[in-house]
Amino acid sequence: DTAAAVADCLFCKIVSGEVPATVVHRTATTLAFRDVNPQAPTHVLVVPQSHFANAAEVAAGEPRTVADLVSTAAAVADAEGLGGDYRLVFNTGAGAGQTVFHTHLHLLGGRPLSWPPG
Ligand code: 5GP
Ligand code: ZN
Repeated sequence: DTAAAVADCLFCKIVSGEVPATVVHRTATTLAFRDVNPQAPTHVLVVPQSHFANAAEVAAGEPRTVADLVSTAAAVADAEGLGGDYRLVFNTGAGAGQTVFHTHLHLLGGRPLSWPPG
């Protein structure tokens, strides 16, 4: 159930401060922190403070927070000096590379990014 998911959730623990992270931005509904294994010079994860497994669940349960995730990522991209060149990704499902089931928007930038990502 939701309570059990939250109790075991790494990113809920980062939101609460129980697990440390390098926080770069916080709003009423979101938290942005640096990825521990960065894949680009800027690699920041933007999460909803409430627990949702994936982006579609945020959209269904807290639709305004989807906009907050994107605007938080844009604010961080500006603060990082990316000049408008960056990638935003929600990996959704294990088959698409999702490993933490508290949804997170990846912000990647600071190097050339090819497409498709593979
Ligand atoms: P996913 O594969 O689910 O899309 O992304 C999970 C991301 O979380 C990975 O990029 C991984 O490096 C990052 N990550 C995993 N554990 C931690 C952690 O304890 N702290 C931080 N800051 N990032 C983490
Ligand atoms: Zn969570």
